[in-house]
Amino acid sequence: MNRIEVLDNFTVGQIAAGEVVQRPVSVVKELVENSLDAGADQVVIEITEGGKKGIIISDNGIGIRHDDIKRAFYRHATSKIASAGDLYQLSTLGFRGEALPSIAAVSDLILVSRSPSEQAGQKIHLKGGDIISVKAAGCPPGTSVSATDLFFNTPARRKHLKSTGTESSLVADIVQRMSLARPEVRFVFKNNDRVVFRSPGSGKLIDAVSSVYNVELAKYMVEVDEQNDILYAEGLLGKPSFNRKTRSHIYLIINGRYVRNKAIYQAVDEAYSGLILSGRHPVAVISLQLNPALLDVNIHPAKMEIKIDKENEIADLLKCSIREKLKNTLLIPTYKSYKSNNTSKKEDINESNNITSIINENQKKLNINNKDDNFIKIKQDDTIYNLSQDNLMHEKESEQTGNKITNNIDNNYEEYKNDYNQQIKLPYLQVIGQLLPTYIVAGGPDGLYIIDQHAAHERIMYEKLLNTEHENNVQWLLTPVPLELSYSTSVFIQDNILKFKQMGFIIEEFGEETYIIRAVPAHLSTNEGIIQFTDLIEEIAAAENNRENTFWDKFITSLSCRAAVKSGEILSNEVMNNLVNHLSMAEEPYTCPHGRPTLVKITENELLQMFKRTN
Ligand code: ADP
Ligand code: MG
Repeated sequence: MNRIEVLDNFTVGQIAAGEVVQRPVSVVKELVENSLDAGADQVVIEITEGGKKGIIISDNGIGIRHDDIKRAFYRHATSKIASAGDLYQLSTLGFRGEALPSIAAVSDLILVSRSPSEQAGQKIHLKGGDIISVKAAGCPPGTSVSATDLFFNTPARRKHLKSTGTESSLVADIVQRMSLARPEVRFVFKNNDRVVFRSPGSGKLIDAVSSVYNVELAKYMVEVDEQNDILYAEGLLGKPSFNRKTRSHIYLIINGRYVRNKAIYQAVDEAYSGLILSGRHPVAVISLQLNPALLDVNIHPAKMEIKIDKENEIADLLKCSIREKLKNTLLIPTYKSYKSNNTSKKEDINESNNITSIINENQKKLNINNKDDNFIKIKQDDTIYNLSQDNLMHEKESEQTGNKITNNIDNNYEEYKNDYNQQIKLPYLQVIGQLLPTYIVAGGPDGLYIIDQHAAHERIMYEKLLNTEHENNVQWLLTPVPLELSYSTSVFIQDNILKFKQMGFIIEEFGEETYIIRAVPAHLSTNEGIIQFTDLIEEIAAAENNRENTFWDKFITSLSCRAAVKSGEILSNEVMNNLVNHLSMAEEPYTCPHGRPTLVKITENELLQMFKRTN
């Protein structure tokens, strides 16, 4: 072993720079944060060769005073905090005093700055961290930093940079995120001298979102606004039909800082659950104002992750208010919104959003059905037809109780309405007929409605299962069935035994880590109950981040899918009317539990346009 030595300044600088500056995007982020902290309302970001060759950030902020310009490049020199206590009352993005010295250590850097109270500005030039010159300079108030030849003195780091295209798209992404965090600031982003993005700086979130996405998408977003004891939340929620493959379109801004936070992403996802296909994620911009004392920003080198006190409480509050907002907003996608969504980037296309593809898809199905005679069979087979009718009634009482099947649809509708005193979510829809036969076509006061019979029925079944009292409505198995479980699953069962009872599954411990199932909910066949239970329990126990109600939710989702009428089944007018009526009274009639739309609308206006009746 060598003797212990204190490292020289150059080495210390390189080590620190390694933490703060990993690639061009980190330089851009730090410099733009400085501009925002300086109160700028206009920031111009220019990069060449993905930022590898050059990065220039110019702002119209408060500038740096003459006698501070060198000090800005000392390590741990900052104007933003004075002591450790200030870390918990932060109102700025920066506080460590590390960015400028770190960027200077790995580039050729020129900073020109003038505070509005001074006549002239100053220009400081550093290379590899060493000051080359400090001179007076004529310049407008504000600051401009140019960093060229990034990592010229750290070839290993330079080698690890990605292609120019990748680096510049990382920069574009962070600029857009920051523009969403600060709608009051005008951002201009130039890539190789070409303006590729600008935000208007109007102060309105919707304008910032319109510049990041297209105006059409922003127009269809739902506003959320919630204020209570611990938070003030503002945001824009994408309609469920604008869903994406990853969570990267959930933007979280806390006290003006763009951050990542798993618990909150998950809360947003959960708020959309049942409205969006599982595995897909919403587009949402959520801006939270929290008491800075609840936050610790000092846990991540790039300050991208922060620690939040009461994180779960905040996530739950947010989830409830988003859910409520989505529920109360009419979420029927129109033909036009489908179309515009489909002209967006290829990867963003959600297969189920394309009405023509749905029609083609079903046309294909129909052909196949015709080919192997299924179609005809279904048409002729009364038992299948009756089965679906029974399902739609929801009135088939358990056979043991001997109650008869209700067939009076109108009474059924009235009863349902009175019983649940439900608010009717859809306008009055007059069923016209069945198409393909997968869709129910109906006329409404504002256009033509096309309802996916399977999705709609799934939604109805799902809510029915969700709202039924199961605990006192079980069927006992003749012989209890032992459950074959892995260790982690048995722990999961132990923890949730009461919950299962509420769901109608009576599970008992039977010796060490062994459980038996004694009863299943009355509305399941015993076999189906046992199979569904064991399948799902394994899957859910293995899943990460188990939230209490995930199990039940998954369970009834898959159950309602099995029980619902299938596409391809011919429905009578009575059944169709009944289905549409029940759908109108569903709590969330617009999507099936997997998140697919239950209905789409072609508005009167769209019809006018299609038939060129305008003007
Ligand atoms: P920090 O942002 O953590 O304070 P930096 O190294 O990023 O540390 O910046 C050091 C100091 O330089 C800042 O505290 C600020 O006073 C000054 N500064 C940096 N950039 C700007 C700017 N664009 N406008 C005005 N002052 C700036
Ligand atoms: Mg800074």
